Amino acid sequence: MTAGDTLDAIKGLPLGTIDDLIGQAPFVVLSPHPDDETLGAGGLIAGASDRGQHAEVIVITDGSGSHPRSQTYPKQRLIELRQAEVEAAGQLLGLGKHSVRYLGLPDTLAPSSGASFDAAVESIVATCRKVDAKTLFVTWHRDPHCDHQATARMAEAVRRQLPDIRLWAYPIWAWHLDRTQSLDDAAPRGLRLDIAPWHARKYAAIAAHVSQMTDLIDDDPDGFRFTEATLAPFLGPFEYFLEVAP
Ligand SMILES: [Zn+2]
Repeated sequence: MTAGDTLDAIKGLPLGTIDDLIGQAPFVVLSPHPDDETLGAGGLIAGASDRGQHAEVIVITDGSGSHPRSQTYPKQRLIELRQAEVEAAGQLLGLGKHSVRYLGLPDTLAPSSGASFDAAVESIVATCRKVDAKTLFVTWHRDPHCDHQATARMAEAVRRQLPDIRLWAYPIWAWHLDRTQSLDDAAPRGLRLDIAPWHARKYAAIAAHVSQMTDLIDDDPDGFRFTEATLAPFLGPFEYFLEVAP
C-alpha cells in the first residue's frame, strides 16, 4: 500500500466509542512532546474525564528543540513554558492536576535502545501499574519523527512487561507523509472516535500550546510553529486510533 492508501484507510476506519477504546478503566497516554497528547487524543481525554475516568499523560521529551536558538526563551525557560502549556491544556481537557508526568529526555534524542531506553520503559511501566491502567496510547510508529518512533518502541517494550495492556497508536506527523511513498503495511485496523461533544475543549487545549501555535517566540529563525496546513489533520471531527498487534 502507498502511504496515501493507508491514510485514506485510517480515515475510513469504523466508528467506535470511548468504551471500545478504554472500557471503564484508567489509561495512560504517551506524548513524545508537550502537544502530541492534545493533538492526537485530546477529544478522547476530555470525553473520558467527563465520565470520571482516570487519564495519565507521560511526556517523554522536554520539548526544548522547538526553538533552540531563542535568546528570550533559553533552554530551561522553554522547557518550563512547554510544561505550563501542557498542564493548561490538560486542565481544559479535564486531566487531574497531577496527572501529567515528565520523563525529561532531550528533545530529538529520545532513545530507542540502551540504558536510558530501559529506564524510560521502567518508569512508564511503574506509572501504568500505579494507576492500574488497562490501556496505553502512543504515537504511531509510522510518524516520520525520531522521538515519535522511539516512543512507539517504548510502548511496545512496556507491553512485553504488561502483556494484558491494550495498545493503541495515534498518528501525528504521519498525516503529512508523501502519499506516493510505499508503506509495507497491512491494511490498518482500529477505529475513529467522533469527538464532536469535546471539540471546543480540544480547540482550546490546542491553543493553550501557545509557543507551538503562535509567534510568541519570534527570535529564532529556525523556530517551529504549526501552520494552517500542518494543524489541519487535528481540527476535524474525529480522532483515529490504530490497534497495535502484539
Ligand atoms: Zn511530537
